[in-house]
Amino acid sequence: MVIVRTIDEFMQSRKKLNGSVGFVPTMGALHKGHLSLITRAKEENESVIVSIFVNPTQFLEGEDLDKYPRKEEADIEICRLAGVDILFMPAIDQMYHKDELMLAAPKVRGYILEGEKRPGHFDGMLQIVMKLLNLTNPQKAYFGKKDAQQLMLIDQMAKDYFMSCDIMPCEIVRDHDGLALSSRNVYLSNEDRQKALSLSRSLQKATQFVMAGEKNAAKIIDAMREVLSATDKIEYIAILNRSFEPLEEIVLQNSIILVAAWIGQTRLIDNVWI
Ligand code: AMP
Repeated sequence: MVIVRTIDEFMQSRKKLNGSVGFVPTMGALHKGHLSLITRAKEENESVIVSIFVNPTQFLEGEDLDKYPRKEEADIEICRLAGVDILFMPAIDQMYHKDELMLAAPKVRGYILEGEKRPGHFDGMLQIVMKLLNLTNPQKAYFGKKDAQQLMLIDQMAKDYFMSCDIMPCEIVRDHDGLALSSRNVYLSNEDRQKALSLSRSLQKATQFVMAGEKNAAKIIDAMREVLSATDKIEYIAILNRSFEPLEEIVLQNSIILVAAWIGQTRLIDNVWI
C-alpha cells in the first residue's frame, strides 16, 4: 500500500494502477462500517483507493470539525490489512484553494432533513465528493446506506454531471446491540449509548409495524416517537420513497424510514430501507 498526501504523489501512484479501480471516500476513524465498503471494493475491483479527509466545507459553524476523531495510525493499519492499494490522506490545501470557482449545490431534495438541519452541509459534501471522484477516476465508488440522503444526492450528481463511475450503495453495519456504527459513537458515554439504542429500536419497531401490515406513515411515526423519547432531542422522523419524496403510506420496496436525534452533544442518524 502506498500512502500519498499530495495531488502530485496521488497522480503518480494512480497512473500505475491497471484494471478496474474501486474507491471508498471516508473521513477516517475507520470502523467496521468503513471496512465493509473497503472489503466490497476489494472483491469487485482489481485495485482499491481509500481517501481519508475530514472535509471542512461540510461542517457548519459550531459543529465538531475540531474534535472530529482522528486516528491516523490505526486507520493506516486497517487499510494495510484490508489490502488497499492507495491510501490518499491530503491536507486541506491539497483539496481547496482560496478562489474556488464552484460549490456543488444540492437543490430541492437536499434541503430537507439533513439539508434543513445542517444548511450548507450537502453543498460541502457534494463539492468534495465531486473533486475526489474526478481525481481518483474509479469505475465504482462505494457509499453507505447509513447516510441515505448523502447517497441519493451523490447518485444524482453522478448522473447529472455525466460522471462515468458507478455509485455502489452498501448495507449499514451495526454493533451487536443494533447501534449503527459511526465515527461519532466514540463521543458516547455508557449511559449515552443506552439512550442511543433507541434510534435503531425505533426503526425495529417501525419494521415490525410494517411486517404486521401497518402502512400508515403517521401511525408508524407516532410509535417511533414513543421509543425515541429516550433521546435528548428528536430532530426528525421521516418516511420517504427512494426519491426522497414524503409518503403517507408505506410502499414496499420503495420506502426509507429515517431518524435523527441528539444524545447529549452528539447527533446521530439511522435509517431502514423497506
Ligand atoms: P464517513 O467517514 O463518516 O464520512 O463515512 C464514509 C463512508 O462510510 C460513507 O459512505 C458512509 O455512509 C459509510 N459508513 C459510515 N458508517 C457506516 C455503517 N455503519 N455502515 C455502512 N457504511 C457506513
